[in-house]
Amino acid sequence: MVVGCPGAEQITDADEAVAKVRRSIILQYTRQGRLTPAVRETLLSLTTSGELRDYAQQQDDLYLDKLPINGHLCMKMLKEIVAIGPRFSGSPGMQKQQEILEKYFANLGGKVQYQRFQARNPISKQGVETVNMANMIVHWHPERTRRILLCAHYDTRPFPDNDRDPDKRLGVFVGANDGGSGVAVLCALAEKMVKFDSDFGVDMVLFDGEELVYNSARDPFFLGSIHFAEEYAAKPPKQKYVAGILLDMVADADLQIYQEVNSRRMAPRIVQQVWATARRIGVQELRPNVRHEVRDDHLPLNEIAKIPTIDLIDFDYPSPQQRETYWHTTEDTVDKCSAISMAHVGWVVWEWLQGIE
Ligand SMILES: [Zn+2]
Repeated sequence: MVVGCPGAEQITDADEAVAKVRRSIILQYTRQGRLTPAVRETLLSLTTSGELRDYAQQQDDLYLDKLPINGHLCMKMLKEIVAIGPRFSGSPGMQKQQEILEKYFANLGGKVQYQRFQARNPISKQGVETVNMANMIVHWHPERTRRILLCAHYDTRPFPDNDRDPDKRLGVFVGANDGGSGVAVLCALAEKMVKFDSDFGVDMVLFDGEELVYNSARDPFFLGSIHFAEEYAAKPPKQKYVAGILLDMVADADLQIYQEVNSRRMAPRIVQQVWATARRIGVQELRPNVRHEVRDDHLPLNEIAKIPTIDLIDFDYPSPQQRETYWHTTEDTVDKCSAISMAHVGWVVWEWLQGIE
């Protein structure tokens, strides 16, 4: 703008705020592959933040209604789980979550089972030496002998120990994206399962104890997936898993899932299939390059159980462009999550499942 030129418009703070809202919506729509010329034109014509947000919300709802995986349901389940509060291993919140999910999956026709074990309590005090752990396993079509493993961890970290404010590190961690999102996507996929017409059966496994960790340098990670993998290796079942997908941190409103290093190394065919599926259906948030090397529940599955399993994870939370992370902080809450992100991830998994031979 030219200052002092007669008739030149003054750019006010309010204009700047509206422009910021507009930019962020345009950016998100571009990332999600939804910015049509008509939508763009409407966004440019709206003049207040309220109008922009209302229009985006309305467009989002219309879009969600058309997706094969129910993003509204993902968000509903995510909110319900997060509302429980902390769900770390052995906590009352974990037990509450188990009750909700057990009922949910059983209602849809899943056969729910717990794989129970005990772990050493990392902060053992007298009388509390061990923690009761339970992986939740939901079988769909248990008679099918070749099986697919869809999994996520359902425990939350005991404390938000990565919070940038040291005073909050002993505060409450509710784990919306980290702990909740994988579960929410599996809940939406569960709706599809009874009618899943395939030679393959699906087992959903919710791992306990992914991060019963008070001190990262001292306490072991992946207790549930290690236990599951060891049992599978020690007593190989008739029903074999041919492939697995782990879902972790998949709800970020700014979703960008890169290929993960260990997944590419240990299960390259599944990475290739899943990314080809995303490309085919136009889910652009799965980016065709490698970014992070993540240690997660897929390691024991590959290394101990020899089940080729990939990790779908967006470790940049919210985005690679921002240095601050919500990961393991009090900021990991539902408002940072998106129904569309979860529905997109579920949709890719669902399409991949249907194409498996
Ligand atoms: Zn975590």
